[in-house]
Amino acid sequence: MSDSTKYLLPENRIPKSWYNIAADLPEPLAPVLHPGTGQPIGPDDLAPLFPMALIGQEVSTEREIEIPEPVRDVYKLWRPAPLYRARRLEAALDTPAKIYYKYEGVSPSGSHKPNTAVAQAFYNKEEGTKRLSTETGAGQWGSSLAFAGNLFGLEVDVFMVKISYNQKPYRRAVMETYGARCVASPSNETDSGRAILADHPDSNGSLGIAISEAVEVAAKNDDTKYALGSVLNHVLLHQSVIGIEAIEQMEMAGDYPDILIGCAGGGSNFAGLAFPFLGRKLRGGEDIRVIAVEPAACPTLTRGTYAYDFGDTGHLTPLVKMHTLGSTFVPEGIHAGGLRYHGMSPIVSHVLDHGLIEAQAYHQTACFKAGIKFAQTEGIVPAPESTHAIVSAINEAQACKERGEAKTILFGLSGHGNFDMQAYTDFLDGKLEDHAHSEDELARALGELPPVAAE
Ligand SMILES: *Cc1c(COP(=O)(O)O)cnc(C)c1O
Repeated sequence: MSDSTKYLLPENRIPKSWYNIAADLPEPLAPVLHPGTGQPIGPDDLAPLFPMALIGQEVSTEREIEIPEPVRDVYKLWRPAPLYRARRLEAALDTPAKIYYKYEGVSPSGSHKPNTAVAQAFYNKEEGTKRLSTETGAGQWGSSLAFAGNLFGLEVDVFMVKISYNQKPYRRAVMETYGARCVASPSNETDSGRAILADHPDSNGSLGIAISEAVEVAAKNDDTKYALGSVLNHVLLHQSVIGIEAIEQMEMAGDYPDILIGCAGGGSNFAGLAFPFLGRKLRGGEDIRVIAVEPAACPTLTRGTYAYDFGDTGHLTPLVKMHTLGSTFVPEGIHAGGLRYHGMSPIVSHVLDHGLIEAQAYHQTACFKAGIKFAQTEGIVPAPESTHAIVSAINEAQACKERGEAKTILFGLSGHGNFDMQAYTDFLDGKLEDHAHSEDELARALGELPPVAAE
């Protein structure tokens, strides 16, 4: 057994294929439905929004999908990402558990999101797209797509949720530095934006509204396609590089995780780390407990319904079966902006429904407390989203201590928090509040699910 702290792979160990868990699922996914007809959609229905290569990946059941060389070439800027053993955190907790974390904050934008942004920009360029339109909440996805689009010579238009646009000027500056155009949403540039502004001129915006705007621009312009940073099957596929590398790094460490933990907004960094491990289990390999962690203020997996719903507020997207709080649900303005989404990846929802993973929810003050413990022991200031994985890992390590069990825990550190210092300032000043929704509040948005949900 090694006594290292950091496990690094050479550049030639960047995976050559992505892993697609659809090949190993015990039951296929529910079909995606057309919002008008309620019938399963085909590739042509998605063609205005996505290039064919990505539509093919969205429905593929091939276990391995080759990563194009130009994508691997860009990955070389930061991949393989390091895996660490959190020895100082273990010592501070005085736990017999071993804690490892896979760190995605070494990417140019500071999170896992470029893993898919680069792939999406590549396939769009190949198929002649001139411009990408997208939405961003906290700005992580917008800056990742801005970076990737620029590398492949694509224009990038980002609809940024208005409250973040005003509160996070540095994220906007990053996008503009990479050459993207950033628009506060709701905006006057789309019908969906104008409709919201007519009713609510002071709207702070939401991810669901910004998605409607970005989808509308792609649907109405032949040279423009839409890009989504989470939730979709092809996004989870691209993120599998995280787990594929981690399996090899755990081997270097002479260990294998008993418990794997990731934070979940739309589910992509969680699935990227977890699914290669879960796939091994599904094929008869090592058993593993897998835990997705979400904010108590946006409890999609722990308190949402598993039903067909829209991905956006304006109801322009197809209907997908997923864990959802209802497309009209507007989460509290918690600091983990990347976790404030009413829906969840259909595959993550499916594996939860099949009992293959567990879900937990934590309040933000507990998360920041854990994030600060992590920063003070391991040195990295985690993204507010990532602190949800940390608090769960710490709790599991403490449970090991109580039971005298030396389990191995692996969690995903999806990004650094260097652009989120206002959140830490607010926490340290005692300004953060925890908000738990009452059953009535949750029932309201769930009462507006599309009728197909009843089937
Ligand atoms: C966007 C983001 C998330 C949440 O998105 P997922 O698709 O659930 O991974 C988590 N962590 C960070 C750092 C993010 O930027």
